[in-house]
Amino acid sequence: RAVCVVEVETDAGIVGWGEGSDLPDTALMRQHVIGRDPFEAEAIGRNATPGCSQAAWSGVDIALYDIMGKAAHRPVHQLLGGRMREKIPVYASGLFLYSADDPTEGLAKEAASYAAAGFPAVKMKIGFGARTDAARVAAVRAAVGPDIVLAVDANCAYDAATAIASARAVAEHDVYWYEEPVPPTEVEAYVEIRRAAPMQLAGGEGLEGLLAFRDLLSKRALDIVQPDISIAGGFTECRKVAALAEAHGVRTLPHMWGSSIRLAATLHWQAVLPDGPGLYPEPCLFEFDMTENGLRTELAREPFVAQDGYVQVPNAPGLGLEIDRSTLARYTVITQTAEE
Ligand code: CA
Repeated sequence: RAVCVVEVETDAGIVGWGEGSDLPDTALMRQHVIGRDPFEAEAIGRNATPGCSQAAWSGVDIALYDIMGKAAHRPVHQLLGGRMREKIPVYASGLFLYSADDPTEGLAKEAASYAAAGFPAVKMKIGFGARTDAARVAAVRAAVGPDIVLAVDANCAYDAATAIASARAVAEHDVYWYEEPVPPTEVEAYVEIRRAAPMQLAGGEGLEGLLAFRDLLSKRALDIVQPDISIAGGFTECRKVAALAEAHGVRTLPHMWGSSIRLAATLHWQAVLPDGPGLYPEPCLFEFDMTENGLRTELAREPFVAQDGYVQVPNAPGLGLEIDRSTLARYTVITQTAEE
């Protein structure tokens, strides 16, 4: 579980934290970021990103938003236009493969624990062949009962034909969405799977930058797009992706699989996303990673917790979290500085 934590310090003494998925180049940071005004985050990014991946830039962009919020004494969700919700319903993300010999081992116990803890939704891993997928989904559905929302995630394990076979095999267990049947660059395959699959189709967590999402959205190859704020390019780029998705009638449900910093950033962004249409819009579900990760549970002095099926949106200035530097030091493997 590698992440890139970015710390940006201003001459006013404000420290901003961000999380990206790659290391930004120090020479590029010196050229484009040092000495600039953090309130020009988008302009700075436009100059820097031709030489910097969006996965690396994400951490800088998020840190600049943290600084802007702290300087303005406002939570980031207010900088983004204002939150639609004070708390966000969560889904428990876990239910991996315990054993290749017995592909349903452990699933019922883990799934039942999420239902008992009040999660309104769970997401499980599939991608092991249509018959195994069906057996796994049956075990989880039996454990959680009929009222819990159940999503499945194949992590790009298939091609179009095997994905369609898997989608059809699991459909009888009331699957809400089918995630990443194939790699997100396979737009035509998504279109084909979406026509054939009986449930909603989701994906896009690994894509970087607005343009990477263009064809998936404009061709309506998905029902739910899942940008990751620490991969796609931070708040700046993710807001554009969400706007493009909204214009094409595709719902945005962010992917979240990182430290407390990514978790906080995702909460602020997801708080401002629009509800779907209708009197009873589809739930705006937050991905609550249930796997072991000290960077998610120990890096913030006050860890984010799911309670009664919800996680609260932070309301303190900036991202609204305080970093435990001893935790950060304990998990640090590489340090790089752009100071002059
Ligand atoms: Ca996933």
